[in-house]
Amino acid sequence: MQKIAVFGGTFNPIHNGHLHLAAGFAKALGAEKVLLIPARVPPHKAAPDLAPARDRLAMCRAAAGGVFEASDLEIRRPGPSYTSNTLRELKALRPDAELYLITGEDMFLTLEQWHEPDVIFSLATVCAAPRSEAGCGRLLEYARALRRRGARTRVENIAYLPISSTGVREAVRRGAGIAGLVPVPVERYIREHHLYLE
Ligand code: ATP
Repeated sequence: MQKIAVFGGTFNPIHNGHLHLAAGFAKALGAEKVLLIPARVPPHKAAPDLAPARDRLAMCRAAAGGVFEASDLEIRRPGPSYTSNTLRELKALRPDAELYLITGEDMFLTLEQWHEPDVIFSLATVCAAPRSEAGCGRLLEYARALRRRGARTRVENIAYLPISSTGVREAVRRGAGIAGLVPVPVERYIREHHLYLE
């Protein structure tokens, strides 16, 4: 069965921390493909300085290659970008594939508050890695609770890179360099499209 990993986010912009996490899971899972899916309207978080969806998708495309593929699935769908709907669409498109949902620590620990969590759990194995010094402890504990609810889970101790989209936007606003924080084509896109300057 082909393994497809789904990695959704605001990706405002996509950065090397995202790609490191997703690459770690692609390797650990033996996934053939990792779909980078920017949310049209992020349902789980406030998003200040939100760049237009078409720019966030273009930056995912600029960062894609190898196992990474950018997807416009959520950007094309009107309304809030619920992961349950995205997984439904992917399952309909690829009924033969085994789906995995990649999340970082902050998102994983709120999974039960997402829209239709049981639909998510029935369609994909939920995957998480730490995004703090605290490591996997809290994730493993929460994963146990999710499994009692019927979820399939996978926690991997992938070393996190201390990078956030907020930090990247702030660096751009200050006029500081962002080399090393985002892939080179994403850095170029931000510069050429004058993103995050105010
Ligand atoms: P912002 O700083 O704007 O809040 P962000 O850097 O958290 O953005 P998102 O697009 O909101 O980026 O994150 C998408 C997913 O990637 C989330 O599940 C988040 O936990 C995870 N993630 C983001 N940055 C990292 C990182 N450096 N290491 C591990 N996981 C990360």
